[in-house]
Amino acid sequence: MQKSRDEYAVAVIFAMGLELGAFRPMLEREHRTPKRQRGDPNSYVAGEINGHNIILAFLPGTQGTVAAARVSSNLSRTFKHIRLQLLVGVGGRVAGEDEATLQRRDMRLGDVVVAMPANGHHGLVQYDLGRDLDGGFQLKGFLAPSPEFVRSAIIGLQTDREMLTRISEHIRAVLDGDDEDGREYGRPPASTDVLLLPNVPHVSHGCDCRNLMSRYAVRRAPRAKPDIPKIHYGLIASGNSVIMSNGSRRRILNQLNNYGDVLCFEMEGAGLATESSCLVIRGISDYADPHKQKGWQCYAALAAAAFAKELLLTIQPDEGEANSSDTDNSESRDECATLTRGVYRPRQKVRERLFATKYRV
Ligand SMILES: [Zn+2]
Repeated sequence: MQKSRDEYAVAVIFAMGLELGAFRPMLEREHRTPKRQRGDPNSYVAGEINGHNIILAFLPGTQGTVAAARVSSNLSRTFKHIRLQLLVGVGGRVAGEDEATLQRRDMRLGDVVVAMPANGHHGLVQYDLGRDLDGGFQLKGFLAPSPEFVRSAIIGLQTDREMLTRISEHIRAVLDGDDEDGREYGRPPASTDVLLLPNVPHVSHGCDCRNLMSRYAVRRAPRAKPDIPKIHYGLIASGNSVIMSNGSRRRILNQLNNYGDVLCFEMEGAGLATESSCLVIRGISDYADPHKQKGWQCYAALAAAAFAKELLLTIQPDEGEANSSDTDNSESRDECATLTRGVYRPRQKVRERLFATKYRV
C-alpha cells in the first residue's frame, strides 16, 4: 500500500535504532514509504495504527537536541500535514539526593514517563539553556507545550482502569510474536533493577559495580504485577548530556530546584519543542547514576512504544485522515495483536543497521 505524503498526520521520532525496533511492530500495517522532498536526508518507515497514517523517522546515529531538531525540520519539508509529533524511546530516571526522596515515588526500570504539565510548567524543561549568574544558573528559553488534543486524550487514559492491561497486551504481542528480534526486548529479571543510594562513588576502571549495588541498594518491596509497567505523568528534563555522574546529576537537580518534581532525563525533546509542539514518552532504562547499565534499554523502549500505541488507539483520526478500512476503532483494537504478529518482517540488512546503533553510549 502506498499513501501520498500529504496523508501522513502523525510522526514518531526515535534517537536510537532499538527504539524504532520497539515501535515498528506496533504498526498494524506498513506502507511503501513515499518519496522524500528533494534535499531531505532523512530515512522513513511508513505505516498505520487506528486509521492514523504514521511516519517514523530516526536520528542518523547522533543524539541530542540539535540532531533531533534537524530531523524534525527535514521531516516537515517532506510531510507538510503533520499535526502530532511523538518522541518515543528511553530516558533516565531523575533520582533524588536522599533516601526519603528516592522512596517517595515508586518508579522502576521499565516504567514509562509521559511529559505532562506540572507545578505550573509545561511538560518539558531544557536544563542546559540559561544564564550562568553569580547567584546560580538561571534557566531561560521557551518550549512549546504538547498539543491540547493530546493532553486531553492522556487525561482520559489516566482514568481508564483497563489501560495498563492493554499496554501489557501490546508488549506481549511483540514478545510472543514470530519475529526472533522481539525476544531481545524481553523484560530483564527484577533482580537487575537496582536503585543505589545517592552518591555511591564509581571509578571508571575496575569499579566493582555489582558488589556496590548489593551493598548500597535502596530497599524496595517487589511489585505485585512486575510485568505491568506503571505510567508516570509530569515534567521531563531535556538537554544534551548523557547524565552518568553523581556530580552532574546533583548540579542539574539544583538548577531545576524551582521546577519541583522532575521525573526523567532525556536528550531530544528540547530540540523539537523549540520549533513546534510534540509529546515526549520515555521508558525508564537507568537511574542516571555512574553505575548505569544498558540491560533495560530494549524493554524500556518497548514499554514506551506500547504506551504510544495505546495513545494512538485512543485519539481518533481527523476526518479525511482516517483510512477507510479502519474507521471502527474498537474493531481495529481487537485486531491489533494479530496484525502485529502478522506484519513485522524486517529484512536482515535493515535489522543489522538498526541494531548497529543499539549501544550509543
Ligand atoms: Zn561502579
